[in-house]
Amino acid sequence: MAKKINSKTTKLIKFYSLINHNLIYNNIAINRYKKNVFEISGTKAEKLNKLKKSISNIKNCELKNYATNLVFSDGNPKAKIMLIGEGPGANEDKEGLPFVGRAGLLLDKMLASIGLDRNSVYITNVVNYRPPENRRPSDNEILRYLPYLKKHIEIIDPKILILLGSTALNSLIGDKEVISKVRGKWINKEFGKSKVSLIVTFHPAFLMRQPAQKKLSWIDLKMIRDKKKQLNI
Ligand code: URA
Repeated sequence: MAKKINSKTTKLIKFYSLINHNLIYNNIAINRYKKNVFEISGTKAEKLNKLKKSISNIKNCELKNYATNLVFSDGNPKAKIMLIGEGPGANEDKEGLPFVGRAGLLLDKMLASIGLDRNSVYITNVVNYRPPENRRPSDNEILRYLPYLKKHIEIIDPKILILLGSTALNSLIGDKEVISKVRGKWINKEFGKSKVSLIVTFHPAFLMRQPAQKKLSWIDLKMIRDKKKQLNI
């Protein structure tokens, strides 16, 4: 026969249902001395080295476990124009540098069309290790690398930030945005103390699959060329 629940028991049940037991009773020690990896100081070169080291210390990451090399960046850290791709592919993983494969060749041509090269820009990716089978990084992986990416932007402190493709868009602007609506517009954004004019445009790998979109990409490139002039870069 079912036992009758008295009002004291009912109150207790209500009380315990308000408590987050996972928070109170888990046995994971609170590390009050955990160093904030993002209190990075020193010269720009020192800060970049420390950031690279923090990324290389990431634990339990499928991307890192699968990859051969950390792909940190390429280009000129003093550049006022920064580009962000999605993540390294096979060639990038082998060489430890972003955009060295076929998409990189097209990116170099896009840059050259507006008078830029790897010496006048700085390039990194949303994630710094090659995703297995070149898959898109998962939402969790994008989130995990986001603080490093934001810090990377803050350290470089570019005037113009170019997001290449929807992964960079979703990582830095929001996962509800679609590239066809957001591309070709200037957005003012701040990363820490760094204030940037941001523009989203198509990823070169996408343009290789959809060459008809190169028309729109050229409009974006001309906007970047004009902004560069306007900002005296
Ligand atoms: N695609 C990217 O997004 N990044 C690279 O580094 C190479 C290809």
